[in-house]
Amino acid sequence: MICEMCGKDVTFCKKVTIEGVHLEVCAECAKFGKEARKETPKPEGPKPIITQRLEVREKRGKPRDIYVAQETEELVDDFAKRIRGARERRGMSQKDLAMKINERVTILSKIETGDMRPDEKLIAKLQKELGITLKEKVAPVLAAKESGPRPLTLADMIRTK
Ligand SMILES: [Zn+2]
Repeated sequence: MICEMCGKDVTFCKKVTIEGVHLEVCAECAKFGKEARKETPKPEGPKPIITQRLEVREKRGKPRDIYVAQETEELVDDFAKRIRGARERRGMSQKDLAMKINERVTILSKIETGDMRPDEKLIAKLQKELGITLKEKVAPVLAAKESGPRPLTLADMIRTK
């Protein structure tokens, strides 16, 4: 048999479809096409239910992400300075303060030099004892994007003229 694609004389030819054309080709050329008998037109039906559900979930997920990203409180960057300053204003030594908040002096010393970050419990104790604020609200990136000022559009610039 002659391969309809490359013209080689072979003992066996496969019926394939290459770019919509039915051909009888050799095994080598058959690689370039689809085997004719396997070709079944795919019905353009609705998507499988799993795919539909995943799409719905994806859509629902977006507003929920914004909702979850609420304001959070974070330890201020200059906590060391604030603690030391407040303690000195009150005329307390590190030892005095450590005793009052029931903490080790070494820990307090490390915190006042910024070598250590106080944990939540210690932050609360220091704030209460020294009457200072060590945490500040941090707007999440997502929410900031939503509520932040939008860039000026051409229409805005024309309006302000
Ligand atoms: Zn061939």
